[in-house]
Amino acid sequence: MSNTRYIFITGGVTSSLGKGIISASLAKLLQLRGYHVTIQKLDPYLNVDPGTLNPYEHGECYVTNDGAETDLDLGHYERFLNQPTSQANNITTGRIYQNVITKERRGDFLGKTVQVIPHVTDEIKRSIKLLGTKHKYDIVITEIGGTVGDIESLPYIESVRQLRWEMPQRTAVIHLTLVPFLSATGELKTKPTQHSVKMLLENGVQPDILVLRTEKPLTNEIRRKVALFCNVEMEAVIESRDVKTIYEVPLLMHEEKLDEIVLKKLGLPTLDEPNLSKWRDFVEKVKNPKHIVNIALVGKYVELADAYKSIIEALIHAGAVHNLKAKLHLIHSEHITYDNVAEKLNGIQGVIVAPGFGHRGIEGKIIATQFARENKIPFLGICLGMQVAVIEFARNVLGLKEAHSTEMNRNTPYPVIDLMEHQKEITEKGGTMRLGCYPCEVIKETKVYTIYQCDLIDERHRHRYEFNNQFLKQFEQAGMKVAGINPDMHLVEIIELQNHPWFIGVQFHPEYRSTVESPHPLFVDFLKTAAGL
Ligand code: GLN
Repeated sequence: MSNTRYIFITGGVTSSLGKGIISASLAKLLQLRGYHVTIQKLDPYLNVDPGTLNPYEHGECYVTNDGAETDLDLGHYERFLNQPTSQANNITTGRIYQNVITKERRGDFLGKTVQVIPHVTDEIKRSIKLLGTKHKYDIVITEIGGTVGDIESLPYIESVRQLRWEMPQRTAVIHLTLVPFLSATGELKTKPTQHSVKMLLENGVQPDILVLRTEKPLTNEIRRKVALFCNVEMEAVIESRDVKTIYEVPLLMHEEKLDEIVLKKLGLPTLDEPNLSKWRDFVEKVKNPKHIVNIALVGKYVELADAYKSIIEALIHAGAVHNLKAKLHLIHSEHITYDNVAEKLNGIQGVIVAPGFGHRGIEGKIIATQFARENKIPFLGICLGMQVAVIEFARNVLGLKEAHSTEMNRNTPYPVIDLMEHQKEITEKGGTMRLGCYPCEVIKETKVYTIYQCDLIDERHRHRYEFNNQFLKQFEQAGMKVAGINPDMHLVEIIELQNHPWFIGVQFHPEYRSTVESPHPLFVDFLKTAAGL
């Protein structure tokens, strides 16, 4: 029998308390102690995956190596643990129901009435245990999305109750809440926490550990009060203070002994003291950079930085390598015109054109790209950003004025970006893009080759359109070179400009693979050039 331990992380009082970061921080500490750990997110919405969600709804859609379109918290898990996740690490209610209904249609339930309990809860439990049994992790941390008390979270909480009943020695529950500070009275308030724990108790779940998000330090008196009223040990009341960077959270959780307390609850030895020196060094560099470099991120979801989470984090990882901070200027592409582009990009040392879908804001992206090309500002185009660089070059260098992607203009006479062949038959939207890791051959004697220093790379994709190879010769003759190509399908994966200090477009998403311990070479080199180092 597998001996995997399961830790559940629930949230109360309000959403956005940072369950994902607490989960990732705890996992990091346990990993540094020598445990084989993974983190899973259960999302209580009915979409089968977040791939069909507008970024305004749920932020960025993160993509794993195996091509799963997932919640952005999986990005945090990978960035902290430096270890890939997969489809099994993100389950939604939609997927649970889809599996249950598929089984019902197959006749697997042998005439039984199919119900939330036990069939939906059994499917939830199966999905949780799969990581332990099939993937053999020592510890699986399961983050339950949403807030305790939501109707849609109930089947998950019930599953947690059942798993605790089945494996009392091998499970622990951490509940994350908010302790608000009332400035009128100058006090931290514990009542919302008490109520939220009560709600968990009504559902049969007694938390072992409480993590209290707070603006001010918790006094011993507060800890004692919460411990007493919520039925937990005093040492299991953990303070989670607001910090400057999310990367500080593992350090704080270690100071609060969260890792030790969890291991004690699970009956596991503490093993080695986690060696946090490299992590501390990274945090130090993030907090006290020696240089600032001004980077524009041109996109259409700029009101919502979460839509570009992985790019923003990749810039932080890469910046730390050079002891610099990329000061990010999120620029709305819909507001960029020929008249204002110089003003909008004034003082900008590097331009990133973001991934995206659809027509809105595309012309502004093209104008920003032209500005970066003509003014020799370092430029990184990611996915749609690469496609924009191709369109801009076709229009303004090759003189193909009406060049476009067929995503934006089906009838363009110069479809320099076109739907991939195998996409032409596809009508359904969910999970049907070119997704996940594909190999890419890096062409020698290119800038990209000097950056990656290897012939074959693997990068993650999420797109339907691609460079149209019919135009390849024209582009190459005019100085836009192919620097990376998919060896099986001959798709252009990377382009770069000659006669420009740094102008690279990638059809894939390098940002998904950047972690604290392994910053992505493209971002590292881009920032170095942008900063003039
Ligand atoms: N919309 C483009 C495509 O589907 C680019 C997608 C993206 O930027 N992720 O090819």
